[in-house]
Amino acid sequence: MTINTLMTSSLRRLGAVLRQDFLPPHCLLCNNPCGLPQLLCDSCNDGIRPNLWPCAVCASAQCALTRHCGKPRTLRRVRAGLVYGGVVRELIHRWKFGGAADLTGLLAQRALETAPLRPRFDALVPVPMHWRRRWYRGYNQSDLLARVVSQVVYQQSGVRVPVRNLVRAHGGNRPQHRMNRLERRHNVRNRYSTKADLAGRSLLIVDDVITTGTTLGAVASCLAEAGARRVEAWCLARAP
Ligand SMILES: [Zn+2]
Ligand SMILES: [Zn+2]
Repeated sequence: MTINTLMTSSLRRLGAVLRQDFLPPHCLLCNNPCGLPQLLCDSCNDGIRPNLWPCAVCASAQCALTRHCGKPRTLRRVRAGLVYGGVVRELIHRWKFGGAADLTGLLAQRALETAPLRPRFDALVPVPMHWRRRWYRGYNQSDLLARVVSQVVYQQSGVRVPVRNLVRAHGGNRPQHRMNRLERRHNVRNRYSTKADLAGRSLLIVDDVITTGTTLGAVASCLAEAGARRVEAWCLARAP
């Protein structure tokens, strides 16, 4: 880190502290005054779109409309509370890449309003991140998310569903975008492994965004091969 970047980041941190202590709260996204000590202004808050009437298999609202679901059935059920786009995309981007880990609670809470969870699972399983990426980012967002979800479920039901990092992600040297479709599918299929004996277990995979469902499907197959009886998934948002 150069002296310049060090000074810029120190000044930015000082600015944030001064703003937090002496100025009225500002919206995290649009910077307009919020009035209340909350993260988002009313307008940005209203921009968070709940994922209503989704398909039970792939969590897409479009799929439910056409009554057709071509997604792999390794997962019994996939749920996603929000629609990925607009304010939600912006928030998730900040949460993942801007180091705004305090957004986990807000995002989880909003997604759980539309996609509530009952404590009928033996464990919550975050989608793993390869250790190199986690080291670079400082945290695995799915793990943070699973911990908050577990807390909310406990507050609502009094039942503690533990978070267990049962699956390992293996890195590949070749970037995904240089592969063709078949190679990509093969690559994802072999990317996850588990050493746990999961005979008879009921597990819920937790992830941030579901796009094609390939990653969730691969993690689910890995858990099913280790003996899991029932595997479902819960995500913050569904890409339309
Ligand atoms: Zn705003
Ligand atoms: Zn579907």
